[in-house]
Amino acid sequence: MYTKIRVFGVVGALVWVGVGSTLSLVPLTLQGLPIAVLLCLTLAGISLSFFMGIKTARQFWAMAHKLQHQTYDWYRQQHPGHVHPRGVNCHSCGNGRIHVRALMGGLYHREHFCTQCGKTLYYSPEAST
Ligand SMILES: [Zn+2]
Repeated sequence: MYTKIRVFGVVGALVWVGVGSTLSLVPLTLQGLPIAVLLCLTLAGISLSFFMGIKTARQFWAMAHKLQHQTYDWYRQQHPGHVHPRGVNCHSCGNGRIHVRALMGGLYHREHFCTQCGKTLYYSPEAST
C-alpha cells in the first residue's frame, strides 16, 4: 500500500519530466522566433520537469509517510493526555468530538479529525476499527 503510493509519486514525477521535456523541445520546431524566446521555452520545460517532478514525488512520499506513521498508537505516544479510556480528544483545541472520513483516491485509509478546529489527529487503515 505505502510502496504503491510512493511508486505513484515517482510515476507522477516522470510524467512531469515528460511534459517538461516536450516543452523544452518545442523550440526545435519553431523557426524565425528570437533566440531569447526559444531559450525561455527550453528553460521553462527544464524547470517544469525539475520542480514539478520533485514536488509531485515529495507530496506522494509525504502522504505515504503520514498514513504509515501518523496512527492511533503514534497519537497516543505524542499526546498521552488526550487519549482516555472513553476516547480521544483534540490536542489542539481539546474538543472531544472526533469524526472519521474515508480518504479518496484509492488510499484505503480513514482520517480521524476534530469537528471543532478541523485538525487531523491520526489515520487508520480502512480494514481496522
Ligand atoms: Zn480541535
